[in-house]
Amino acid sequence: MSDFPTAGDPAPTDSDTLGAIPPVVTVTYCTWCGDSLTKGSHVTCRANLEHEPPRHCSSCRRELRVTTEGSRWSAVCKKHGESSGELSA
Ligand SMILES: [Zn+2]
Ligand SMILES: [Zn+2]
Repeated sequence: MSDFPTAGDPAPTDSDTLGAIPPVVTVTYCTWCGDSLTKGSHVTCRANLEHEPPRHCSSCRRELRVTTEGSRWSAVCKKHGESSGELSA
């Protein structure tokens, strides 16, 4: 018996199981009403956001300091910095 497996054979690793981990669901907040997006429906909020800038940070729900210039807006969260966008007319 000279041909049984040697130490050079690849050992089974745990890396196969990594693909089975479900994606982490990050809870974000409605930028209009500041409530959790997983709570209730924000259909009207989304409609409002079409023509008005956001009011709350999506990460921490803090109130944003919003400035608008024409159809462009920029909103500053004390913690997460500035975001900007454009409103549809
Ligand atoms: Zn909302
Ligand atoms: Zn924030």
